[in-house]
Amino acid sequence: MTEEERQNLAEMDKWIEETFEENYIRMRMDGGHALTPDVKEMALEQVKAYYRKLRDVAENVTDTEVRLTLPGQQTNDGREYTIEGIVDIVRDNDRTVMYDIKTHEADYVRQNIELYENQLNVYAHIWQNLRQQELDETAIIATAFPNKLLDARRAGNEAAMQRQMDEWEPLIPIPMDQSKVDEVIADFGRIVDSIEGKSFRPPAVEVLVDETARSREKFGTRVCRNCDARFSCGAYRNFVVKTNARTGIDFRRYYADFGSDEEVAERTVVGVVTAIE
Ligand code: SF4
Repeated sequence: MTEEERQNLAEMDKWIEETFEENYIRMRMDGGHALTPDVKEMALEQVKAYYRKLRDVAENVTDTEVRLTLPGQQTNDGREYTIEGIVDIVRDNDRTVMYDIKTHEADYVRQNIELYENQLNVYAHIWQNLRQQELDETAIIATAFPNKLLDARRAGNEAAMQRQMDEWEPLIPIPMDQSKVDEVIADFGRIVDSIEGKSFRPPAVEVLVDETARSREKFGTRVCRNCDARFSCGAYRNFVVKTNARTGIDFRRYYADFGSDEEVAERTVVGVVTAIE
């Protein structure tokens, strides 16, 4: 890195720190919630790391927070609904790229790429067909720190942290494929019918146990641990029974389990960084 680049980065760090503080004060006034110093420091660290990783994209964004709307949709049960999404657009020379920012971990996005592919292709459809705008590429920006980086951070292992930081690839290209757009829109319609029809059945316990898990944690741990409905959810109760068949069941431990202090702090950071971005 040249001296000039080092100086520019130091100036940008200063700007991020000031803007972060301003946004934090605004968030506190809006929501009335304060962060512990640890969580605040980690959130700031994440914003800085995120800038270093995606400097090119950040400096070339031409349209931020573009609201995409697909009105006039109808569900199978005849309910009217509108699909909305927010994306960032980079126009560089003759190329246009659409980015969707997600607070998820990059590995999780890669392992579940079809979920993101479906949604982003609907946005691409709105952009190209309704807005009649050119589009060359779509991609997800996954802002959460990778689990391995968090593990290294928890262990205080600077060398491993640097290695994980170098390996972190938060930009994930999403193939453009318009063949499933109608199917995805119909899926949105089914979700609207379920919500409006007050059909909130939890998934089968097999989903929570998720033996074919593509992410590091089971659904019952990764998702249900953050769900307030778990205290009265039959699927979660069965999940606890099933995963403790050998050792015996301690429901109290499960219902009081929100993850370790670090994991709770990391989830809070994800929320804070999103609000600040
Ligand atoms: S605990 Fe919550 S997230 Fe998990 S299955 Fe039940 S309702 Fe769904």
